[in-house]
Amino acid sequence: MHQLTLAEIARGLADKKFSSEELTKTLLARIAQLDPQLNSFITLTEDLALEQAKAADARRANGESGALLGAPIAHKDLFCTLGVRTSCASKMLDNFKAPYDATVVAKLAAAGAVSLGKTNMDEFAMGSANESSYYGAVKNPWNLDHVPGGSSGGSAAAVAARLLPAATGTDTGGSIRQPAALTNLTGLKPTYGRVSRWGMIAYASSLDQAGPLARTAEDCAILLQGMAGFDPQDSTSIDEPVPDFSANLNGSLKGLRIGVPKEFFSEGLDTRIAELIHNSIKELEKLGAVIKPISLPNMQHAIPAYYVIAPAEASSNLSRFDGVRFGHRCENPKDLTDLYKRSRAEGFGPEVQRRILVGAYALSAGYYDAYYLQAQKIRRLIKNDFMAAFNEVDIILGPTTPNPAWKIGAKNSDPVSAYLEDVYTITANLAGLPGLSMPAGFVDGLPVGVQLLAPYFQEGRLLNVAHQYQLNTDWHTRSPAGF
Ligand code: GLN
Repeated sequence: MHQLTLAEIARGLADKKFSSEELTKTLLARIAQLDPQLNSFITLTEDLALEQAKAADARRANGESGALLGAPIAHKDLFCTLGVRTSCASKMLDNFKAPYDATVVAKLAAAGAVSLGKTNMDEFAMGSANESSYYGAVKNPWNLDHVPGGSSGGSAAAVAARLLPAATGTDTGGSIRQPAALTNLTGLKPTYGRVSRWGMIAYASSLDQAGPLARTAEDCAILLQGMAGFDPQDSTSIDEPVPDFSANLNGSLKGLRIGVPKEFFSEGLDTRIAELIHNSIKELEKLGAVIKPISLPNMQHAIPAYYVIAPAEASSNLSRFDGVRFGHRCENPKDLTDLYKRSRAEGFGPEVQRRILVGAYALSAGYYDAYYLQAQKIRRLIKNDFMAAFNEVDIILGPTTPNPAWKIGAKNSDPVSAYLEDVYTITANLAGLPGLSMPAGFVDGLPVGVQLLAPYFQEGRLLNVAHQYQLNTDWHTRSPAGF
């Protein structure tokens, strides 16, 4: 039963082949047996899950239907979940039980999804390896010595290991697409404003966006359907109609114009990955797509701009964790300053502290113009590059990451080398565009992802292209040995 996709589960439940309760029990047992090897969960909510599963079975018995009714999922541990620890993988929030549900959590629960628990992540979503969690690193099921990617690494490892069919993630600079690529999943970062950020603990508010991680594009369509939509409680949520993603997966790719930016194939890309990406291009050409070489001339400035803007916003967002209003409080403070200083020094891990320092510096008087303002101007140039490209092409294609998953610990002494792994993903966040990563093959037994980017609110186009690709390839069906 653990091999089933969300789409297959929906059919199985509708045909009464099994109940949501049976399925939930099976997966919980599988998690208990296998997750000690992976560390993909921070908190399991077994009782709540069984309650939700029974309620979903009862709703089906009463004639209700729906693709998510009774479907097991899990949430990255930065979505506030009523009465459940919501830690952001930080000591700072180790004892924080959220007093309300994030909109994403509430919407999926209303659709009947069964939440098995909260998945591990990089502390406050800062990272691309899932090594900075207060609860320990997550292991990649394809090779337990390697990272699963991050920051949604717990969600990715759990889905890739068939502990559950799908999970939520968030993507500020690649944290859905990059772990999807490194664990052989399909992951989608929606247009900024498509999914509500209400109740999602903020890292960099102008970049953060929640989305689905699953094995197939078909399943991403199902999960995104349950997450997307206007939310008056989020001032950056956009009131745009949400199409029926599942109904639009079968459009023909005949004549689809795919732009391939030369900057995506520059120095730094593993040549074996480049070859796999070219194979996926050929596959799409067979389906009728037309390839056009394009250029995104300002891409080289994306990493420096992102690593100013994201830490700047983080330093501001994380100021609320002061040991008074939220978060860990140190023992026996001498005075208020001592309480702030020690609570934050004890509560935040080294990567989070590094980002707060960089961000506070970039925002301080005298440096604001030189760094923050400059970075914002680059952001506009990057957006303009995309707008120009999308005048000529329907989607943009390239690698998701320059390298396959690296060994746990390999980049610990050199944070910048980890930042460079984000080179292909962060531009979509800076521009607010939707992006998807899907399986494209293997290098040394480790999965490789191909990335697709589309104009604003064209998630449906990404899912359509990915689904057609997956009907004609089988990379996404491969599962890691031992799981
Ligand atoms: N790796 C990037 C960072 O550390 C992106 C993280 C994310 O998307 N949450 O900022």
